[in-house]
Amino acid sequence: MLFEDTFKKFLEIKELFKSLVKDRKKVEELFKILEKPQREIKVYLPLKRENGEIEIFEGYRIQHNNFLGPYKGGIRYFPQVDEDEIRTLAFLMTIKCALVDLPLGGAKGGIKVDPKNLSEKELESLSREYVRKIYDFIGPDKDIPAPDVNTNSKIIDFMIDEYLEISKSINVKLKAAFTGKSIENNGSEGREEATGKGGEIILERFVEKVNLKKPLTVAIQGFGNVGYNLAKFLYQKSYKIVALSDSKGGIYSREGFNPELVMECKKEKGMISGCYCIGSVCDLSFGEDISNKDLLELDVDILIPSALENVINTENAENIKAKIILEMANNPLTEEADEILNKKGVIIIPDILANSGGVTVSYFEMLQNLNNEKWSKEKVFEELENYLSKAFNEIWQLKEKLNISLRKASFIMALKRIYEKY
Ligand code: GLU
Repeated sequence: MLFEDTFKKFLEIKELFKSLVKDRKKVEELFKILEKPQREIKVYLPLKRENGEIEIFEGYRIQHNNFLGPYKGGIRYFPQVDEDEIRTLAFLMTIKCALVDLPLGGAKGGIKVDPKNLSEKELESLSREYVRKIYDFIGPDKDIPAPDVNTNSKIIDFMIDEYLEISKSINVKLKAAFTGKSIENNGSEGREEATGKGGEIILERFVEKVNLKKPLTVAIQGFGNVGYNLAKFLYQKSYKIVALSDSKGGIYSREGFNPELVMECKKEKGMISGCYCIGSVCDLSFGEDISNKDLLELDVDILIPSALENVINTENAENIKAKIILEMANNPLTEEADEILNKKGVIIIPDILANSGGVTVSYFEMLQNLNNEKWSKEKVFEELENYLSKAFNEIWQLKEKLNISLRKASFIMALKRIYEKY
């Protein structure tokens, strides 16, 4: 029911949107079209396990909409992947790309698998099999996959390699068929940190607009690529990172952690628990362990869910004490939770804006591949700042003008671009 839930949030802007444009019938048509993805691909992936047995895994690629350009979106490896989830995330990609004004549409892919249960070789075989199954439907001018939850540049490198092998072409432009590749393999500088960097840019714009004074306290759920990099950038900008967590649990200190040291400690110990690193020192007396549930309910200025969807729902929405929520995960709030928090006056900076840094730098990676260029990290971050600041300012103006939430303003901004193209 995830898709219905998310689309319901989107439907709330329909009447308002109709009052802003000329052709009301066209708006009705467009909503009908966007309520269904354009194509859903389901594949079965046989994998010969190292014990000699064959196991079949389910995979998906759902292409939601391509009115603005080729489909674009990540691929996740996760045991609970299903059509409904991938469809929802594909829809959000359509909106996200339109919002940042990228000439791209929306898609998402996934394999129902726990990658931690696979050997390196099995992971490679499964990734290559997935590309063989969706090959006909992807390419630089059709659909460009990228990393997402539990996938990274190593997996994308296997995928682009398989793609190029099948296409039997030496045209380097074909490297643009996937983004999030490693730097050595025509990936972009800064892509790895891009989603976190984007979150920092958007939050900074917000803090400037409403004139908040630092240090602001921050709790971040999720210490993967997105959560870690964002924590690192926010620490550098003098935010106080009082709580961090991974899937196994969290840590808390009123003094505020140094995320880079916490990461070093986590790598050594295999878990975040006990990694109470402040300044340049880690010490067991500096902090305490907390649960993921408690982290979400902490009394902080800014709460940042950076892991999975629906973590804030009817069960905990009333207990949320943060004043601002920066949605770095896709869809971390259920529709009901969104409503409860809006009523409580919590400011929600929506996923489609907050985490759009990743796909924006993916777009830069495509441009570099297609034009045979190599941008420095400085240039990548400078361009990212331009794109995201522009999107933020447009959304902010619209929010002020219409007196609506940032999510509604983002939906309207994105829809306006799709409507104009339709
Ligand atoms: N998976 C990321 C997202 O949800 C990035 C997608 C991309 O780079 O295409 O936005």
